[in-house]
Amino acid sequence: MKQKITKIMAEIRRKAKAKKRKRDPKRPIAIWTEKDLLEGQITDAMVAILATGGCSWAEESGCTMCGYYNDTCNQVTESDLLAQLAVLKERYRDQKYLKIFTSGSFMNAKEIPASVATEFLSFFSERCDLICIETRAEYVTAEAAEVLAAYPCEIEVALGLESSNDVVLAEIINKNLTFERYKNAASLLLDAGLAVKTYLLLKPPLMTEKEAVEDCERSIRDVLPYTNTISVNPTNVQNFTLVDYLHHRGYYRPPWFYSLEEIMKRCMPHAKERGVRLMSAPSGAGTLRGIHNCKKCDGKYKEAITAISLGMVGVEIFDRIDCECRVKWQCDMDTQNAAMDFHSTG
Ligand code: SF4
Ligand SMILES: [Zn+2]
Repeated sequence: MKQKITKIMAEIRRKAKAKKRKRDPKRPIAIWTEKDLLEGQITDAMVAILATGGCSWAEESGCTMCGYYNDTCNQVTESDLLAQLAVLKERYRDQKYLKIFTSGSFMNAKEIPASVATEFLSFFSERCDLICIETRAEYVTAEAAEVLAAYPCEIEVALGLESSNDVVLAEIINKNLTFERYKNAASLLLDAGLAVKTYLLLKPPLMTEKEAVEDCERSIRDVLPYTNTISVNPTNVQNFTLVDYLHHRGYYRPPWFYSLEEIMKRCMPHAKERGVRLMSAPSGAGTLRGIHNCKKCDGKYKEAITAISLGMVGVEIFDRIDCECRVKWQCDMDTQNAAMDFHSTG
């Protein structure tokens, strides 16, 4: 199976390279403001996606659901990155929460040289209360964590883990990461006094709905001691990915909102007990390429997930939403595993 996936992904990557959009290396990919939580209060957070060379792992092989490769730039110099910083400064409106993302790792010096990272963080840490950056676990070292911890504002480091199951990571997501490695990185960050956010994936490809719910629930429980925030990311279908390949052929359906409801209901009490924020900000929610139920209830579920994630309401809000499509989800939960068993033994 793994060999087949690798072959398909190599072909997908070849096509992605050929169709890659040319981007201006002096301009961030996107900048916007969104609502998020800062010290328990809803606040405006500025989000900037920088144009960089992108994820080192995506360049080599890449995760089966990730299309970030399409949002990267081939040649980005230090002076280009500083030009992007100038754009951020111009667009900055005194938001106290800033998320500086790349389509890769902020802590990879080959992507963001240390001197450039210092320029970004020095400027904004004087003005913000919280800055969030994302990185692959392998770039986290005790020294790097110390450097980040010395800035005057709180720094939150977001680690993409996806699943705590090493087989899922290796065979299905192709993450090139182990749970152990994540735990080491998270512990180094926490020990230095930094905040940790952990991304978990809901429904990687090649999993039934039920397996996906179980994998996500188990992963949440496993990461609780290593993180301050857990963001459950329901898979959305991104161009030039294995997920897209399977979706196009009818072999992949993004998760149901009911699955996320189930996970939040089961895990929220454990998260609260540990003082961990459990949230989700799904991309493409309510569309056929993102997490969805049916047209009648998608809007209500989207609102509920946002309200829960911002701490405005508890998971009981789900009990006020009901729709006839629940029976279809239940059917997927009850029968997909059995169908897979039948096919593999038949
Ligand atoms: S999900 Fe993260 S680690 Fe995986 S290819 Fe995308 S950017 Fe790289
Ligand atoms: Zn519905």
